[in-house]
Amino acid sequence: MDTIAAICTALSPSGIGIIRVSGEDAITISDKIFKEANGGKLCDANTHTIHYGHIVDGEEIIDEVLAMLMRAPRSYTTEDVVEIDCHGGILVLKKVFNLLIANGCRPSEPGEFTKRAFLNGRIDLTSAEAVMDLISSKSEMARKNSVSTLRGKMYEKIKSIREEILFFIAKIEAAIDDPEHMSLDGFEEELNLKLEGILAEIDRLIKSYESGKILKEGINTAIVGKPNAGKSSILNMILDEERAIVTEIKGTTRDTLEESFDIGGLTLNLIDTAGIHESDDLVEKIGIERAKSAIEKADLVLYVADSSTETDIVDDQIIALIDGKKSICLLNKSDLPREMTKQELNAHFEGSTTKPVFIYTSAKTGEGKEELFENIKEMFFAGEISFNDEVMVSNLRQRNELLIASESLKKVMDSIAASMPEDFLSIDLMSAYAALGEIIGEEVSDDLVDKIFSEFCMGK
Ligand code: GDP
Repeated sequence: MDTIAAICTALSPSGIGIIRVSGEDAITISDKIFKEANGGKLCDANTHTIHYGHIVDGEEIIDEVLAMLMRAPRSYTTEDVVEIDCHGGILVLKKVFNLLIANGCRPSEPGEFTKRAFLNGRIDLTSAEAVMDLISSKSEMARKNSVSTLRGKMYEKIKSIREEILFFIAKIEAAIDDPEHMSLDGFEEELNLKLEGILAEIDRLIKSYESGKILKEGINTAIVGKPNAGKSSILNMILDEERAIVTEIKGTTRDTLEESFDIGGLTLNLIDTAGIHESDDLVEKIGIERAKSAIEKADLVLYVADSSTETDIVDDQIIALIDGKKSICLLNKSDLPREMTKQELNAHFEGSTTKPVFIYTSAKTGEGKEELFENIKEMFFAGEISFNDEVMVSNLRQRNELLIASESLKKVMDSIAASMPEDFLSIDLMSAYAALGEIIGEEVSDDLVDKIFSEFCMGK
C-alpha cells in the first residue's frame, strides 16, 4: 500500500501542528527530510521513541520538530507510522507536508488512516465509526457512548449474536448432510426460544438508536407561545445569557434563532420561534410558518404561556399545533399575580394526545429553571442520565442493518410456526447473519467502506 501523509491538526496558527505519515516507506521517507540533532536515523531507532531535530529541505531548515516513531504493527494503522510535531503555523505545516509529498508520500484521503486500521484488522467498523463520533461529539454523554463503542462494546455484542446464529445454521446444515447421525428432534423449539432472546436484544439496540441519536445530535427544542409570553426571556434564562432580543413590543421575534446548550451532559438545540397568532403582517406570517415547521422537527416543545393573563382561544390553537409532541408547559411570569393555573391550562389539553408537564417559571427570577432541566432529563432518559454501560446505536447505517436482521429472524420464527423445512430456516438465518456482519464490517462491500470513510475528517 502507498505511504500516505496528512496534516492532522486544524490549519490555523497554534502551538503545535501534527503531520502523520503511514505506510511501508514512512520511515525511509521521513529520514530524507528529518535530521536528528544527535545525528541518528529513524530507521535505526527503536519503536515508540521520540526524536528531536529539524525538518530540512536540502540545506535549508524548515522547522524544529519532534518526530515520533511507531513501527508496525503497534501503531494506529498497524503500519509503520511517523508523527511529526511541528510548530503550528500554516505555512510551516504546508511546507513540511509538501516535502513529504515530494519525497514519495501520497496525500491521504479523508479518514484513510482509520480506514487502514479497519482494513488491516485492528478495529472493526463500529469502532471506526465511533472515532468520528468521538471527534464530533457535542456532549459529555455522546463522548462516553463513542468511547464505549470505540473500545469494542458494540463489536462484542454483535459478534456474540452472530456466533449463536452461526451455530444454528451449522446445526441445520449438518443435519441435512448427515441425517443418520444428526437429529433435529426438538431443535425447532430450542431455536424458537433462543431467537426470542436474540430478537429482544436486537430490538433493544434498535430502540437505543433514538436515545443514541439524541445523545449525539441533541434534543431539537422548539419554544412556542403567544407574543409577549416570555419566549425570548425563557430562552435567555436557559442560556444564562442575553442572546435573544427581549423587548416589550409584541411580535418582535420575527426570525428563528438557534442555539445549542448543554444541560448535565445533554445537548438542547434551541429554536426560538415567533409568537403564534393570526397576523396580517407578511413578515410575521413567515415567522409563524417557521414556528409550525420548527414544531414539526422538534423532539421537544416548550410551550411558554403568560400566567399573569387568562387562557383564551389562541391557547387552543397552539395546543392543536403541538398535538402528539413531547411537551412541557411553562406557566411563565410566576412572579406576577396569577391569572392562569396549571389546572386551567391543562383543561385545554382535553382531547389532545399530548400530555404535557406543567411548570411555573419566572424568567425574571429564575424560578422553575432546575425543575425544567430535571423534567427534560426525565422525559428523554427516564431520569437515567448517569450513563450506564449499555451499548447504544448512534448511527442510521447500523440501525438499518439491525432492522434487516430483526426482520429475517422474525421470518425464521414464522417458518417454524408454519412447519417449513429446515433449509428454509437456514436461508433467513443466513441473511440475519450477513446483516449483522455488515454492522461490524465483516461482510461489507468496498463501496460502502469508501463511503463511510469519506465522511471522516482529513488526517484521521
Ligand atoms: P416573547 O415575545 O414571547 O419572546 O416575550 P419576551 O421574552 O420578549 O418578553 C415579553 C415581555 O415580558 C418583556 O418585557 C419581558 O421582560 C417580560 N417578561 C418575560 N418573562 C417574564 C417573567 O417571568 N416575569 C416578568 N415579570 N416579566 C417577564
